[in-house]
Amino acid sequence: MDFAVSDRAVVLRERLRGFMEEHVVPRESELARAIDDEVRPGVAYPGAVVELRARAREAGLWNLWLANSHEGPGLTNVEYGVLCEEMGRSLYVAPAIFNCSFPDTGNAEALLDYGTPEQIERYARPLLDDDVRSCFALTEPEAASSDPTNIFTTARLEGDEWVLDGHKWWISGAMGAAFAIVMAVTEPDAPPHARCSAMPRATATASCASTACASPRTRCSAAEGKASRWPRRGSGPAASTTACARSARRSGPSSSCASARTPG
Ligand SMILES: Cc1cc2nc3c(=O)[nH]c(=O)nc-3n(C[C@H](O)[C@H](O)[C@H](O)COP(=O)(O)OP(=O)(O)OC[C@H]3O[C@@H](n4cnc5c(N)ncnc54)[C@H](O)[C@@H]3O)c2cc1C
Repeated sequence: MDFAVSDRAVVLRERLRGFMEEHVVPRESELARAIDDEVRPGVAYPGAVVELRARAREAGLWNLWLANSHEGPGLTNVEYGVLCEEMGRSLYVAPAIFNCSFPDTGNAEALLDYGTPEQIERYARPLLDDDVRSCFALTEPEAASSDPTNIFTTARLEGDEWVLDGHKWWISGAMGAAFAIVMAVTEPDAPPHARCSAMPRATATASCASTACASPRTRCSAAEGKASRWPRRGSGPAASTTACARSARRSGPSSSCASARTPG
């Protein structure tokens, strides 16, 4: 494999490094404190980070992860890797400023690649363009979650609504996230690797984004859409689970479907 850094990656790395040195590194502790103090349900980023996000976007340092099939810079993994190295100097704040945070990157990419047009508009677009965040709800206290075929959470279609029944925790970034992609069993009789669906759901209540609140049954509204295969690329515990996305028609305020414990 060729690990040589391309000319365009060198140029981007210099610009990113300059931005980091001017705007991020000197203010790192202040920005980290603002994230801790200000992020809460309904607030994805603190004001100071929002300002820097606008600046980064103007500087063309935005959505650097976005692969070539979409409207991103289309960098290779090696090219993006050297930019991650720079952002990694300030891991708690820098990815948020350049809209390169996990799990927003993987969630948006999966939606763009496998979501319905409605899901792309409703969930992926805001992640690419606005000051919103998302989270990914796979892990369960009752299941050995390193193997997603073990999960218990179910999603049952009742009329035009999905009824989610389960318990999730360790959802990174749940606090302040606009939606979660929830892994749930929708085809219980299918072979183990074909049982699950990945369902984007609006997170709703504050309580579900804090600590282990029991939310055994939550109603989510969805229409059964054209099921699309949705294998997650890249890393993450869901990478081995084949899943499908179904289009969501509406989601009420009680549609958060997981209890959450945000690590760290
Ligand atoms: C900082 C942090 C952030 C996280 N963020 C998220 C998130 O955003 N969303 C989310 O859904 N989860 C998240 N998690 C949870 C994490 O992904 C899970 O903890 C992980 O998938 C492991 O699952 P588990 O805790 O159930 O461990 P288990 O699956 O119970 O595994 C425990 C141990 O047993 C081993 N093991 C399990 N099964 C086998 C087997 N068949 N053979 C041999 N060894 C085995 C494992 O390797 C591990 O060492 C996060 C965790 C951390 C620490």
